[in-house]
Amino acid sequence: PAITNHMPTAELQALDSAHHMHPFTTGDELTAKGARVITRANGVYLTDSEGVEILDGMAGLWCVNIGYGRDELAEVAARQMRELPYYNTFFQTTHVPAIALANKIAELAPGDLNHVFFASGGSEANDTNIRMVRTYWAAKGKPDKNILISRHNAYHGSSIGSGSLGGMSGMHAQGGLPIPDIHHINQPDWWAEGGDMTPEEFGLARARELEQAILDLGEDRVAAFIAEPVQGAGGVIVAPDSYWPEIQRICDKYEILLIVDEVICGFGRTGNWFGSQTLNIRPDIMTIAKGLSSGYQPIGGSVVSDEVAKTIDGLEFNHGYTYSGHPVASAVALENLRILEEEGIVDRVREETAPYLAEKWHGLADHPLVGETQIVGMMASLALTPDKASRAKFASDAGTVGLICRERCFANNLIMRHVGDRMVISPPLVLSLAEVDVLIERARRALDECH
Ligand code: PLP
Repeated sequence: PAITNHMPTAELQALDSAHHMHPFTTGDELTAKGARVITRANGVYLTDSEGVEILDGMAGLWCVNIGYGRDELAEVAARQMRELPYYNTFFQTTHVPAIALANKIAELAPGDLNHVFFASGGSEANDTNIRMVRTYWAAKGKPDKNILISRHNAYHGSSIGSGSLGGMSGMHAQGGLPIPDIHHINQPDWWAEGGDMTPEEFGLARARELEQAILDLGEDRVAAFIAEPVQGAGGVIVAPDSYWPEIQRICDKYEILLIVDEVICGFGRTGNWFGSQTLNIRPDIMTIAKGLSSGYQPIGGSVVSDEVAKTIDGLEFNHGYTYSGHPVASAVALENLRILEEEGIVDRVREETAPYLAEKWHGLADHPLVGETQIVGMMASLALTPDKASRAKFASDAGTVGLICRERCFANNLIMRHVGDRMVISPPLVLSLAEVDVLIERARRALDECH
């Protein structure tokens, strides 16, 4: 019989664990408990197979920026599938959806980031970036300038290349990562690692690790530095104000290409179109994905400066994906950008929703378990701690309290993620003020229940 939404949950769960391998999940966990089966969604709410509504505080995986259930995107996808479901952009062919989307991204992107190389997601786009910056410097007569510097606890994807760029030790422990010529410096996480320094001192010290790495490795060996404007999957870690200006100064001084991974921060998440604008960063390359299509279709890309594009266009870049600039994904992304723009969603985030959410989020700091609260736009985190004053960690295995808190959120019909003992949210940008209240109320109840 066909497997449908109408089957009993337990049966669906059994079939799921029998044949479906889940990312970042242990099979034992699934067999023991079963995954919660999500059957439909609308606005900021998911519905599970038991008919329970869950407030999605994570916008899926940080991606459903315009919220669920927008018919316009379904209609555009159906129209495009009928007209031209697929054609490639290799070997001197192109098509209108890719042309239109590249032009729209160039219009929205800051500075002279006017050129887009498409991929199906963030991992692929960061793989492109690794090859592109090395090819760029080789074309400039500097083939040894091929080291990319990244940060511990960064997340840039799961492929061999992008996983190597990322700084997740759990990922590096499996499958032969990192590849050669990737170097990691420390992250600007003041709460966890700032010791006695003020946030400003610490931000400078961590940024200057980039300068030290460049000096140690050799200026003529370092191709690029990559970072997320706000580390997302690492726990929504907002760098102290002193950090980014110093990083920018160092990249400029040593002629290091600056790759800003906007996969989470892009398309309104921080209250501007790009996190680079919110934090005043001038990238040479931006990685984009997720909010580009609000997750309705898998699409990502590398947005590069005139200078990088001119150099790469001057040779044959032997790189590309079957689905680079996929017409259906491109058409859906373009419609998503139209909605974000015409409905003023990014402006509303900046002027109304994010300030309101910030006030409520920081209000959770009076909870006995909550240490630091951080928020930029519509991405926020809080550190769980047994002692706020000393910024202590729990004695239990790192992440146990976070896991309990996540499960209490789940039980209270709120999706909030945990990264160790840090709780994070990244809700759809269309969250209303009333829905902010619901989110905060459920988060507080969950915190009470794990106290
Ligand atoms: N870069 C960042 C900053 C991300 O957060 C992610 C995914 O979470 C990626 C890259 C990888 O993107 P994808 O999962 O689309 O390959």
